[in-house]
Amino acid sequence: MKTRINELVELLNRYADEYYRLDSPSVSDADYDRLYRELVDLETAHPELILPNSPTHRVGGKILDGFEKYTHIYPLYSLQDAFSLEELQTFDERVRKEFPHATYICELKIDGLSISLTYEAGRLVVGATRGDGNVGENITENLKRVKDIPLTLPEPLDITVRGECYMPKASFERVNLERQEKGEAEFANPRNAAAGTLRQLDTGVVAQRGLSTFLYQEASPTDASSQSQVLAELDRLGFTTNHDYALADSISEVWNFIESIAAKRNELPYEIDGIVIKVNDLAIQEELGFTVKAPRWAVAYKFPAEEKEAEILSVDWTVGRTGVVTPTANLTPVQLAGTTVSRATLHNVDYIAEKDIRIGDTVIVYKAGDIIPAVLRVVEEKRDQQEVMPIPVDCPSCASPLMHYEDEVALRCINPHCPSQIMNRLEHFASRDAMNIAGLGTSIVEKLFKAGLVKDVADIYQITVDDLLKLEGIKEKSAAKLYQAIQTSKENSAEKLLFGLGIRHVGSKASKILLEKFVSLENLARASAEDIAQIEGLGRVIAKSLVSYFASQGVQELLAELKSAGVNLVYTGQVAVEDGLLSGMTVVLTGKLERLKRSEAKAKLESLGANVAGSVSKKTNLVVAGSDAGSKLTKAQELGIEVKDEAWLESL
Ligand code: NAD
Repeated sequence: MKTRINELVELLNRYADEYYRLDSPSVSDADYDRLYRELVDLETAHPELILPNSPTHRVGGKILDGFEKYTHIYPLYSLQDAFSLEELQTFDERVRKEFPHATYICELKIDGLSISLTYEAGRLVVGATRGDGNVGENITENLKRVKDIPLTLPEPLDITVRGECYMPKASFERVNLERQEKGEAEFANPRNAAAGTLRQLDTGVVAQRGLSTFLYQEASPTDASSQSQVLAELDRLGFTTNHDYALADSISEVWNFIESIAAKRNELPYEIDGIVIKVNDLAIQEELGFTVKAPRWAVAYKFPAEEKEAEILSVDWTVGRTGVVTPTANLTPVQLAGTTVSRATLHNVDYIAEKDIRIGDTVIVYKAGDIIPAVLRVVEEKRDQQEVMPIPVDCPSCASPLMHYEDEVALRCINPHCPSQIMNRLEHFASRDAMNIAGLGTSIVEKLFKAGLVKDVADIYQITVDDLLKLEGIKEKSAAKLYQAIQTSKENSAEKLLFGLGIRHVGSKASKILLEKFVSLENLARASAEDIAQIEGLGRVIAKSLVSYFASQGVQELLAELKSAGVNLVYTGQVAVEDGLLSGMTVVLTGKLERLKRSEAKAKLESLGANVAGSVSKKTNLVVAGSDAGSKLTKAQELGIEVKDEAWLESL
């Protein structure tokens, strides 16, 4: 018994360290929770054996080096958890023994990282992580880069609020794709991605990663008398709160809410791992108080883990545009989190080796952050005679030898003429954030490449309508449209071209920053690593990558070809305006404008400092509506957002 307790404490503390400090868990939350439960049961039966370093008696996290420590004025707690209706009923009985008429509020349990924000006289002065509950990390500068955190409040209040900072599913996918292309290890789930991002020492990276927040608590004394009033008050002060909550008089009502959310969980744009049930009345909360670790007035219902067994039938190795070779397992189909899964990522060669994954193995498949199916581990008991997985030595596309650099987890094809890489590069060049050539997707790119019409991005501008008509399945109308899209793309501001070239480490944000500074691609191509590294938000890695890219003779020729084809190499975008009339405001354009073109209206708004967004949300400050405006206008009206017309825009 004693040995098992020792073992569990040691194991759980190691897992917690990997999870909280390194943002890189080696077991699933469900595995962790199972072991934790086992420890709680043993400790309940033998309280004399509880170890002083037991995770059941401490709030999880640790402080990282690199950030200042911050001692919380009001400690942060963990939550007791429940995995079934019965456990919720036990919680309810305990509450009702003292407060028979207590009612509950059910909130979504956002799978992110707790944050604490302190305002003095209405100004954000400290943003911190939970840490061990008493001492966290001061990450104020990073939190200031999270767009929906207000830097000032509408009133000069001294207040400390709490909530969750998270990475939306869409940002998570994008960030992982970028990491995959750079040969970096992917984040296991959005929670780790959010935690890893907030512990970045480079605030520029935080701004790019697209984090969001939901606030749910006033930690400093409040005038509110219930949790629902707290949420309304936070809303009023300009914080983002989650409106998907429900009030419940009984546990059966709580259960109904849990079931309704479980049914739509996969459609939510962010990850949740359960529902938090809180006593709504703050006076009752105060009476119930806390254990050493968690409040007695709340419980977190955790959704059952979505993990299934499947057999690995075969493995595909594919080459991305940067040459990174990624393994994907083909599986016997299984139902997971509402979809049929028959493929799962194996991440990279190091992952396969570490987990010793073999073809023919039965494995546990899960959805990492409920999005990308991945293989968690091998079910050892079901292993037969499978041989160690053969790792390709040659590129699956061009057969040239693959490299496995020491500082990378990925295998790479370094042949610049590799067909897969070329096709992926062409596709990237045409993608929306790059040259935005509508119609130039995977299948056309493949046809053009196979017909020998394009081998690098400059060739795209030599394509004629006749060339397109020779391709199988292309009709006149779509050929003309694609041709036109190619011609129009020549006018793009040069940051789109720079991003489209797919230079290692140079993303779309960095491209914009670079061209704001150097104005033309030709100037940038002549810049030294020192000049580039000095720019705020960039660094040595980007600088080195650019300099070695432009040093190549082939690249010089490519730029010359693009230029002679009439592709714009100059930055024509707007320089960020910091003190414009509309600085800091998010504006949405909708409907038909009479006098201004849509692009002119957008340019005007941007020149006044506005951020022009495509859809209306709570974060929209203003909508400019022309005639025949549709759902965006309706939504703006529903949300009470100010609506202006074209004449107003012209008058500015
Ligand atoms: P918790 O699951 O006990 O929940 C507490 C946290 O929930 C709060 O700190 C807050 O950040 C968050 N939360 C989200 N929405 C909320 C809302 N509406 N109201 C209140 N709180 C809300 O978190 P914990 O104490 O950080 O960690 C315990 C859990 O972490 C474990 O159950 C396990 O699933 C996971 N874990 C996993 C590993 C691993 O190796 N996989 C290791 C350690 C912990």
